[in-house]
Amino acid sequence: MSRKKSWMLVGVAALLLSACSGNAGKQQKTEAMADSMQITDNGIKTIRLDGMEVTWIQDNEGEHLMPVSLFSDASDKLIDSLGVQNGIPSSMSTFLVKTADATILFDTGKGLKNSCLTSRLQSLGIAPADIKYIYLTHFHGDHIGGMLKGDSVISPNAQVYAAKMEYDGWMVMPDDAKEQAERVMSAYKDRLHLFEFGDTLPGNVVAMKAVGHTPGHTVYQTGKLLIIGDLIHGAALQMVNPEICASFDMDKKAAIESRKSFLNYAKENGLTIAGMHLPAPAFR
Ligand SMILES: [Zn+2]
Repeated sequence: MSRKKSWMLVGVAALLLSACSGNAGKQQKTEAMADSMQITDNGIKTIRLDGMEVTWIQDNEGEHLMPVSLFSDASDKLIDSLGVQNGIPSSMSTFLVKTADATILFDTGKGLKNSCLTSRLQSLGIAPADIKYIYLTHFHGDHIGGMLKGDSVISPNAQVYAAKMEYDGWMVMPDDAKEQAERVMSAYKDRLHLFEFGDTLPGNVVAMKAVGHTPGHTVYQTGKLLIIGDLIHGAALQMVNPEICASFDMDKKAAIESRKSFLNYAKENGLTIAGMHLPAPAFR
């Protein structure tokens, strides 16, 4: 590759990153950005756990607050005592897990113009076509939106795994509710694997039943890592008050049971929690 061409690519990479990286966006020199992109992009963090490499990749740009109005069960007194009147620190997150025999992307973010997943994966040297496995926690738009661009499949080589109970639950919903889920699943239908809870998936990942938020909401465990999807939307509030639901929880009673039981399970077994709406970096 010519020197001119390679610098053009650096410039393009820097431009892609600038929209999604807090400090990097303010820098002027593409050269400086190329050298420091891993360090300055505050939407990525990798931890090593149980022989795995687990990378948190934030889909949203900058900070994200969950509006307090989503938690109607929380009293004003409780909200005031936690000092979260202006919103509860949160994120829109995905996780990339490298086990001994598989690299898996858990959820795909919103797939909107300002979504950062693709550019952040690129900064890690991963193109959408490189993704071999996508495991879904559930079918809300902020988790499956990143699988399509318009009607085009973003990860043409990915095998997609989702709970059969989630798929079946969404497909009987009214047309306007299931429109996105139906479109995305249909686009990936040749590579869509519907599992039963308790199944062990490639990479030695166990899919566990954590329903309530959606009909087949799934939590995944591999080694000491527990990916909890949307069990928690407002960590400051719900980690200590798991009986409080966000308005997104479709079946509140089941959601409370799932939240309580998996928080206990993680605590008793010394698991690291990775949550799609925990505040950055979204590990606990
Ligand atoms: Zn969500």
